[in-house]
Amino acid sequence: MTSSIDFHTHSIASDGQLSPTQLVRRASEKGVRVLALTDHDTTHGIEEAAITAKEIGVHLVPGIELSVTWNDQNFHMVGLGIDPLHPILASGIREQQELRLSRAREIGRRLNKNRIEGAFEGAALLAGNGMLTRTHFARYLVDQNRAATLQKAFDQFLKRGKPGYVPTRWAPLETGIQWVTAAGGIAVLAHPQRYKISTTRLKRLLTDFKTAGGQAIEVVCGNSSNDDVLKFSRHALDFGLLGSVGSDFHSPENRWIELGRLRPFPNGVSPVWVKLGIASNPSSPAH
Ligand code: AMP
Ligand code: MN
Ligand code: MN
Ligand code: MN
Repeated sequence: MTSSIDFHTHSIASDGQLSPTQLVRRASEKGVRVLALTDHDTTHGIEEAAITAKEIGVHLVPGIELSVTWNDQNFHMVGLGIDPLHPILASGIREQQELRLSRAREIGRRLNKNRIEGAFEGAALLAGNGMLTRTHFARYLVDQNRAATLQKAFDQFLKRGKPGYVPTRWAPLETGIQWVTAAGGIAVLAHPQRYKISTTRLKRLLTDFKTAGGQAIEVVCGNSSNDDVLKFSRHALDFGLLGSVGSDFHSPENRWIELGRLRPFPNGVSPVWVKLGIASNPSSPAH
């Protein structure tokens, strides 16, 4: 299944492994015509992505993925169609970056107590100029043969309850929505199937999200099952939210997630791209 629209992707500006240019080129090769770059808490990759996109005829939607906190639980939100340099968004991003840095130092200290030396420095080196994330710690742990795979690095060291986990309070959900909206963007609840949350609580989250100005929810993600698509389409309709689609592509090394490899967009759900001024059909035949 191929979608010509992919609204959730990462580059080396955060924890992706391709440069913005490489990402846009690969997206085009995979049949993606409308692409959003949504790096974690940064818009640094967008300028380069936009230049390449223009060269090769891809429509680039400027985006971001923000970590936010709601009722002591962390969620991810995608902002689509943002002005990447808007001052309100930019100052919000700076706060998140400071939080990321102090969290990363604490992750390093905790791993050090578990006889894993140099993790902060190692992760920071891997992140380079990009936003520092737990993925970089996971890559460091794999490089150091402390974990066999990225997934195991998270499971053994970085997930909640594990030695390197540092509880973090990100910007409140409402604040994240305000930053995105101020920058002219649409706030989208990212990969809803990933959260450990009861249906009752999810409905409270969606109510608060909508009230605060959130407009869309990802109904098709790179790893969505058919049931996930049905379930979140239902929620989109019930809460009057638009539907978005995004693979959450990070790296060609992950064989399970590919740019544009997405289930068909569900009938009946209003697509977010119409609101972005894009009148295109995301389902194109696989090739
Ligand atoms: P951070 O925002 O620094 O907490 O890092 C979160 C990122 O880590 C996510 O965007 C994913 O790319 C990655 N991640 C989180 N959990 C896992 C997991 N269990 N396995 C692999 N990657 C994960
Ligand atoms: Mn990530
Ligand atoms: Mn995410
Ligand atoms: Mn993501």
